[in-house]
Amino acid sequence: FADRDGVIWFDGELVPWRDAKVHVLTHTLHYGMGVFEGVRAYETQNDGTCIFKLQEHTNRLFRSAHIMNMPVSWTKEQLNEAHKLVVRENNLHEAYLRPMIFYGSEGMGLRADNLKTHVIVAAWNWPSYMSPEAKEVGIKVRTSSYTRHHVNISMCKAKANGHYINSMLALKEALDCGCEEALLLDTEGYVAEGSGENIFIVRDGVIYTPELTSCLDGITRATIFQLAADCGYTIKEKRITRDEVYVADEAFFTGTAAEVLPIRMLDGRNIGEGKRGPITERLQSLYFDAVKGRLDNHHDWLAPIAK
Ligand code: PMP
Repeated sequence: FADRDGVIWFDGELVPWRDAKVHVLTHTLHYGMGVFEGVRAYETQNDGTCIFKLQEHTNRLFRSAHIMNMPVSWTKEQLNEAHKLVVRENNLHEAYLRPMIFYGSEGMGLRADNLKTHVIVAAWNWPSYMSPEAKEVGIKVRTSSYTRHHVNISMCKAKANGHYINSMLALKEALDCGCEEALLLDTEGYVAEGSGENIFIVRDGVIYTPELTSCLDGITRATIFQLAADCGYTIKEKRITRDEVYVADEAFFTGTAAEVLPIRMLDGRNIGEGKRGPITERLQSLYFDAVKGRLDNHHDWLAPIAK
């Protein structure tokens, strides 16, 4: 991934992709203390390429840094501009963007007190997180043997680098079992989220999703709340058990990378009819309308990259 053309915004400068390097004693590489975002830009109907919910992502990035006590020497406006710049400068029409705030190699050990935060924003073309058919037919999921983070072990409201060890263990286990994603339960045994997605279920026309206690405050999750409200659907946040998912009529994951992804099977049981359900399909299609600028009432979600 490092050997390609393009530029990466690195501490305020556009650096050639191949030269955007750090030292092996980079602190974040050793202990995982860093924060990041996953953001997408889409080609829209009338405004060219736009970054979807850029301000919300930047706000969450700064909240994550605040939780982790990492000072940021850039303003939100400067980082927003950096996002637009890397999409433009890499000539991307659609893109996945990865801003990250991390500690450099100024010091080693947990007690290092001379660390500096560094910031990158990279962008590349990443059309589909899973197979393109997954969006239509849905995916197979298994409940993970790995428990999701506990609120007092790691800070669940932060999108922190080290948190993703847990996600990777769970995802690998699910893939090894012939599934496409893992469903992680919280320390009490209730449904939390996927390795990189929030989860929703539908039962008798009502949509349910876990409370935010131990799952990430997903930006796509919030988008789905708004789109569901626009259509007059009710969404209830509540504790959900894995067997409630087994007997749901529909289930789907949401995330910036995964977008809106139907779940057709959990632990070998079909969810509903074992295919994308009608409410999932409606919200999924509205989501793509939103990101591609086809919804007049949600234009404020789009940040055009054009100068
Ligand atoms: N949960 C986890 C663990 C994630 O990594 C993500 C992806 N950022 C999400 C949920 C979904 O969040 P969002 O919709 O903001 O991408």
